[in-house]
Amino acid sequence: MKHERSCILTYHSMDSSGSVISIRPEVFRDQLEYLAETGTPVVPLHAVRDTPGAVAITFDDGYRNFYEHAVPALRKHGFPATVFVVSEYCGRRNDWPTQPRNTGLPIMDLMDWSQIAELSHNGIDIGCHTATHPHLDQLSAPEIEMELSVSCAAIEDRTGKPVLTFAYPYGEFNPAVREAVRRRFPWACSTRLAYLSTDSDPADLPRIEIYYLQKSFWFKQLLSTSGNAYLAARGMLRGLRQTFK
Ligand SMILES: [Zn+2]
Repeated sequence: MKHERSCILTYHSMDSSGSVISIRPEVFRDQLEYLAETGTPVVPLHAVRDTPGAVAITFDDGYRNFYEHAVPALRKHGFPATVFVVSEYCGRRNDWPTQPRNTGLPIMDLMDWSQIAELSHNGIDIGCHTATHPHLDQLSAPEIEMELSVSCAAIEDRTGKPVLTFAYPYGEFNPAVREAVRRRFPWACSTRLAYLSTDSDPADLPRIEIYYLQKSFWFKQLLSTSGNAYLAARGMLRGLRQTFK
């Protein structure tokens, strides 16, 4: 039995702090080696839903350590990736107003516009993660539009390319947010833990947070094509959804 489900992986920061948004650079490098060794198709986000068995790699927030640690590893294998940037915070730190305090989340440098433009010109997809990383489901319709339009305009201005991908901050949205996003972006990612299917809503693509897969056993199970391993990984996702809901 061979499963043909594709999935989107979510990363945030590449550092050794051990926080819930962090993964060590060497773990990431090992994961990419595994994908390469197993011949797993690593495809751009816009292609993953309709490519059976494929993986897309995404990074939220645009940390500078993406530029320093992830890009060289991606480049080594020729793998595409999407990085979702917070336009008003590029070149600053992830201390936006909604960032929870005293939770041990590291406050770190974010990429500046010259780094983002360079990556865009070298094949990294630059996606939108709003202007200020708000809780979108708590905003009025004009405020939602402002967050999306300001951010899109800034990215397009700096990269010269249209913005085709979006990630909801904190994975939060309601129907009004989702429809505003749908009008503007062909592809939008949530934080719902699941494999993709060919009928996944393009405005609500599930993703798999890599925090749960830092142990290489689970990473391999997730991507395994053998029936038992696939079923085990699917059971793990179901368990995580119940635990972290
Ligand atoms: Zn974020």
